[in-house]
Amino acid sequence: MSKLIPQLLKRLRKDFQLSIITLMALFGILAISPYALYRYGEGNYLVSIADTVIVLATILAVLYAWRSGDTVKPGIFLSLIFSAGATLIAINLGVNGLFWIYPLILFNFFMVSPGKAMLAMLLVIGTLIGHALLVPGTVFESSYQMVSFLVTGLMASVLTYIFAFRTRSQRDQLQLLASQDPLTGARNRREMNKELRMAVSTHRRHGNSYGVLVMDLDHFKQINDRFGHPAGDQVLVDFVELIQQSSRQENRLFRFGGEEFLLLLPNTDEAGLRAAASHLQNQVRQRLRGPGGPVTMSVGGAVLRNGEPWEGWLQRADQHLYQAKNAGRDCSIIEAKAAAAHA
Ligand code: GH3
Ligand code: MG
Ligand code: MG
Repeated sequence: MSKLIPQLLKRLRKDFQLSIITLMALFGILAISPYALYRYGEGNYLVSIADTVIVLATILAVLYAWRSGDTVKPGIFLSLIFSAGATLIAINLGVNGLFWIYPLILFNFFMVSPGKAMLAMLLVIGTLIGHALLVPGTVFESSYQMVSFLVTGLMASVLTYIFAFRTRSQRDQLQLLASQDPLTGARNRREMNKELRMAVSTHRRHGNSYGVLVMDLDHFKQINDRFGHPAGDQVLVDFVELIQQSSRQENRLFRFGGEEFLLLLPNTDEAGLRAAASHLQNQVRQRLRGPGGPVTMSVGGAVLRNGEPWEGWLQRADQHLYQAKNAGRDCSIIEAKAAAAHA
């Protein structure tokens, strides 16, 4: 029990969307529950029921988000419930209800993607205006008020859309920067650890087979020493482009050391891994050119075994690379003979 609170706080800190959903839910429950009681006492049962449904739906959505870790579906659900509820309340209460449309705009943009939130706001504003036009005298007190609401509501929605869109694209850019190697554009080591861990857990749960190839350029130091560091850099850039062109879309390439790269191959058994290694090795031998001539690579590979942690899997591939270097370079060793008999 004493550990529960720090654990909950840690989850809130790590998962922004979960903390927003929780905060909005607390806010909604605290702000809306008194209204439900007040409207009930006043005899306005429709609004009271709408308020109560909103509060109960919010509690359910938050519980679901906490239990499942999925914040997308509860976000859409809450956005729908709050939009429909606020529309009903504004139709019923008129101007007094319209004030709620403005926080609803912010709420929706926090909960769902900018496009979905904009669509929700267009529907809410459109429904209110449509209702007022079909049943004159409802929702707004005058045509002037209706036009003012239309203009301010749209303006607030569009400005929030622009803000949310920009925030989203900046976040995507940051995510890309944090996951890429700046020189070659290959994924970085942090991504590699994450994806290898994911591969191990997918293998454990669904039995998918995975292979890795650890690739190291041969005598790379000589290129730097003879032609300078920028020439070496260019070879690394060309190498990554070549491997990405020559391997399947689903394979993932990581730079995990200076001139060491790892290719993760989903749905690949030992024979597939051998074929991929020999194909890539041929491509590099034939097409990778440094300032001093052809560049070759040595490759070590390993297929993930049952119950094996990702560190052990990587270490086996690395040992095979070491053996390939010792065997004279420009060759690949996939599974050691003893290991092959094991599998
Ligand atoms: P081997 O065939 O045994 O792999 O020999 P090697 O020369 O390729 O290997 P070694 O580990 O001795 O040297 C790797 C070199 O890679 C040394 C380091 O200066 C160079 N290196 C590491 N990162 C970069 C980089 O980002 N750019 C450039 N140009 N060179 C790099
Ligand atoms: Mg090397
Ligand atoms: Mg090396």
